[in-house]
Amino acid sequence: MLGRLATWMRLIGCDIAYFPNIDDELLIKLAIKEQRLILTRDTHLIKRRNAKNNHYYIESDDYKLQLKQVIEHFKIDPYKDILTRCLRCNIEITTVDKNAIKEEVPLYVYETQDGFEKCPSCGRIYWDATHKEHMLKQLRLIVDG
Ligand SMILES: [Zn+2]
Repeated sequence: MLGRLATWMRLIGCDIAYFPNIDDELLIKLAIKEQRLILTRDTHLIKRRNAKNNHYYIESDDYKLQLKQVIEHFKIDPYKDILTRCLRCNIEITTVDKNAIKEEVPLYVYETQDGFEKCPSCGRIYWDATHKEHMLKQLRLIVDG
C-alpha cells in the first residue's frame, strides 16, 4: 500500500527497500539487520515488540500526502538528489558516455538527448526526457501544495 510512496522516494534519491508482501517478522528482522526505519501504515505491525521503536507511521492513504509527510518529517530536500537512483534496484545510477549506449536506446532518444545514466545492477538506462519536467512539476505541487 506504500508502493507509490516508495517509488517517489527513490525518485528523489532516498534509499528505500520495499516489500509489498512480506511477513511481519521477516520485515522487522531485515530492518534491524540493515539498520532501516520501517515506514508503514500497518497498525498491527507497529505494535510488535521489535518494531515499536523502529517505525514511522504513515497517516494518509494518498501517496501525495504520504510523500509530503515524509519529506517534512525527515526534513528531506526533495530536489537535491532527484533522479540519482534506479527505481527498480534502489542503487545509485552512474553517468555513461552517450556513445557507449547508442545500441541500447531508441534512435530518436539517442539523437535528441545528451545526458544518460545507467544502473550498474539491472542495466536500465535513464535520460532526461519530458517526463522529468512533468515529474518536477508534480513534485512541486506535492511539496508546496
Ligand atoms: Zn537497476
